[in-house]
Amino acid sequence: MQGQVTAKLLPPIHDGQCGLQSPLSIEAIEANGRSIPLNAPVTTDCGMASALPQWLSAVDSYTEAHEKTRIKTLNLGTGYDCRNVDHAATGNLSFHSFGDAVDVIGFSLEDGRKVTIAPGFNGTKEQGHDILHYARDAACSSFMTVISPDGDSFHQDNMHLDLACHGKTCTMRLCE
Ligand SMILES: [Zn+2]
Repeated sequence: MQGQVTAKLLPPIHDGQCGLQSPLSIEAIEANGRSIPLNAPVTTDCGMASALPQWLSAVDSYTEAHEKTRIKTLNLGTGYDCRNVDHAATGNLSFHSFGDAVDVIGFSLEDGRKVTIAPGFNGTKEQGHDILHYARDAACSSFMTVISPDGDSFHQDNMHLDLACHGKTCTMRLCE
């Protein structure tokens, strides 16, 4: 599939209460007229695939304006994964279970730096502090849930993004 992302359509996933009807294996995301590859293909639903380009373009523009470099690779962790919230033994299924979430690990930059949530988010500017904070703030307008290291102990080395429904009309955002 071409367009805002480069992705392969996968067959439907049915795994108990988990799964999704039209999974995509995303390989690259279009941002500011370039195709920015992922470190490894990630499986998500169409909603996440549609939301990622706008966010990545914003982070790439910020990086170019403020640090005179651009994003070479977006490094993601888990996309689809059948499990409960925070890997707990009981409780609610995570939005990862429906392909409606990704975990961001960080960015490889054209200047050779690799900035990662740990230690960059609470690190120095050189380690990516400013870029990662901007990435968090920008994510809050593209996604419904954003959990950075400011959020809780489960997100010290990754930033969770999803399109969960919060509030009666699904318009409430959770941004931490
Ligand atoms: Zn997550």
